[in-house]
Amino acid sequence: MAFETLGATPARVGARTHHITVAKGDGIGPEIMDACLKVLNASGAKLIWDEIEIGEKVYAAGISAGVRADAWDSLRRTKVFYKAPITTPQGGGVKSLNVTVRKTFGLFANVRPCFSLAPYVATKHPAMDVVIIRENEEDLYAGIEHRQTQDVYQCLKLITRPGTERIVRYGFEFARLNGRKKVTCFTKDNIMKVTDGLFHKVFDEIAAEYPDLESEHWIVDIGAAKLADKPEQFDVLVLPNLYGDILSDVAAEIAGSVGLAGSANIGANLAMFEAIHGSAPRRAGQDVANPSGLLMGGVMMLQHLGEAKAAERVRNAWLKTIEDGIHTYDVFKDGVSKLRVGTQAFADAIIARMGETPTTLATRGKGGAWPAIPVLKPRTPQVKTMLGADLFVDWRDGPAALGDKLSALPLGPFKLSMVTNRGVKVYPEGAPETLCVDHYRCRFLLEKDIKGSAALVAELMMRVAQAGFDVVKIEGLYAFDGEPGFSLGQGQ
Ligand code: NAD
Repeated sequence: MAFETLGATPARVGARTHHITVAKGDGIGPEIMDACLKVLNASGAKLIWDEIEIGEKVYAAGISAGVRADAWDSLRRTKVFYKAPITTPQGGGVKSLNVTVRKTFGLFANVRPCFSLAPYVATKHPAMDVVIIRENEEDLYAGIEHRQTQDVYQCLKLITRPGTERIVRYGFEFARLNGRKKVTCFTKDNIMKVTDGLFHKVFDEIAAEYPDLESEHWIVDIGAAKLADKPEQFDVLVLPNLYGDILSDVAAEIAGSVGLAGSANIGANLAMFEAIHGSAPRRAGQDVANPSGLLMGGVMMLQHLGEAKAAERVRNAWLKTIEDGIHTYDVFKDGVSKLRVGTQAFADAIIARMGETPTTLATRGKGGAWPAIPVLKPRTPQVKTMLGADLFVDWRDGPAALGDKLSALPLGPFKLSMVTNRGVKVYPEGAPETLCVDHYRCRFLLEKDIKGSAALVAELMMRVAQAGFDVVKIEGLYAFDGEPGFSLGQGQ
């Protein structure tokens, strides 16, 4: 197959030619990417591409990001990345390539349509048609982790107002543009009142600007259970990063197979399109993998490039192939499927149906209008006041001794208000049943009318450290426009 590579076939390079960057990845990546490029090439869209190397070989060459420096130049030039899955090496020392690309280029929105192909692909949820819009840069994926004591390891969860406003607005705009009716948000703000609480609050604020759309919020545990049981009750979901990561795989799997769903990663500087599944190394090199997920990524890429007609041709030909019972092993079912094919034969079957339209599946996964990147409104600076500080100390002699010793120290305007262990108050008046590890959070509040400052907190830490305590971390306690910006201790 003579694929077009950069500059290879000038005859097809016209006004509507699109220049993209392609990476074939690891495991089943090269074979599904070849199949998808073959199909996209037959759609009428004119694509030329740079091929860059990513993944296993690049990691093995000692490049911990899994992507070579010259690949960044191609991505900056084309601004569109069509990426096959890679194998992420186990163990430390390497960074996730996906996370690096997403964060380097600010790909804040991950859009994953998950729809059923019933009755041709088995699913318990024939009416399912949801789009999961996942925040892609923040939350626990900031990758800021520390070991602070012998017992305690920490991962920082960051939720920001600009990041949340952008993804939530993008979700509502996506729903409106694509004729969707409802936008749902899941958080765990009954527990994480500050971080998930912000996500929920911003969701409610922005929902009020879209009265034409229904909006709802569920606590993520019951929301996830409902999504897995009755996905047809959901339409567009806007989720923080971790919940979105997990639930978009669940949604794809219950729709039929993880092998069927594509994913778009959208930012102001670059858009990346891929399958949601990984490199399935055990299936590599056998021409058996299903290229549908990567192809659905390709359809979204065509839509993003303004090639709506070509995208529709590919989607229709793919749906017609599925309707005709031509299936790869992962979705093949006796009695429903007619012909079991490998990767390349599946692609050829799609190409043979280019221009045809499906009957039963015609409206499945329809849509693909892409909103503009939301512009953030300028914000009024808030008045930030320091109320005190939490000092975390490495300590092994129990909460009572710690609390008594800290209370007896001369700490100027600061007073010890409580000590917690793993978030639970253990001083004063802790419960004897609480398991304590070697990591205590000691909350010091400033006396009323004392103006707090970083210098005062530094002095507090110095005094505590000079008294022999091993301070492993400090968090300032602030109020913004008078509203405290920190949680209480559990049991406080
Ligand atoms: P996986 O998605 O690669 O495979 C899980 C199973 O799903 C496979 O064993 C296979 O049975 C099935 N499967 C997946 N895709 C299929 C397809 N297209 N056709 C048919 N069957 C398919 O998940 P994994 O085994 O946990 O991960 C393998 C590697 O992929 C790991 O190194 C992981 O880090 C990496 N990964 C990469 C990406 C990415 O690059 N975007 C995403 C997820 C996982």
